[in-house]
Amino acid sequence: MLNPSILLKFVAIYFMFLEIKHENKKGWIEVICGSMFSGKTEELIRRLRRAEFAKQNIQIFKPQIDTRYDALKIVSHEGREIVSNPVQNSQSILLMINIETVDVVGIDEAQFFDEGLIDVATYLANKGIRVVIAGLDMDYRGKPFGIMPQLLAIAEYVTKVHAICVKCGNLAYVSHRITNSENLILLGETDSYQPLCRVCYNASIKSK
Ligand SMILES: [Zn+2]
Repeated sequence: MLNPSILLKFVAIYFMFLEIKHENKKGWIEVICGSMFSGKTEELIRRLRRAEFAKQNIQIFKPQIDTRYDALKIVSHEGREIVSNPVQNSQSILLMINIETVDVVGIDEAQFFDEGLIDVATYLANKGIRVVIAGLDMDYRGKPFGIMPQLLAIAEYVTKVHAICVKCGNLAYVSHRITNSENLILLGETDSYQPLCRVCYNASIKSK
């Protein structure tokens, strides 16, 4: 009698093989969005690691502007990391990509990219590549951030993740800035931003 755990392993390997050898490779776009501290990058890394485990070829990009933790890696707040290519703009992704061999393309901090990323993501998906994009859906004023609305519109799959409001424990929806800078691109950590729900955000804007 075959050990059930060995049998399960065979089944898992069989499905993995099917996934890799899939003849009619279909591309699509997935977007993971949410406020800061919502676990977007953590979710991006989780999906990319799963693809890596299935022996798929992955390439990861992030805007050069984001070097908070590490110049070459994508690092989540929880400290998980994965190696990425920092790029100047969306066109650099096309120059660096190996279109023949890549299966999955990961893009982090998409809100900082130029508009060209919409065409780049569409082109890659049309070529049969799975494109996984993570980004902040709104800026610190609660306004849609950069090209994120367009990316959400063209994606087949959208996942919105939430942080917890630091004031009341409800689901947060915005990354409220607690410093006085007006600069839209202010990279910061717990000392510059706090996740707030709609009620607490509106209350804190009023009290200013
Ligand atoms: Zn709240």
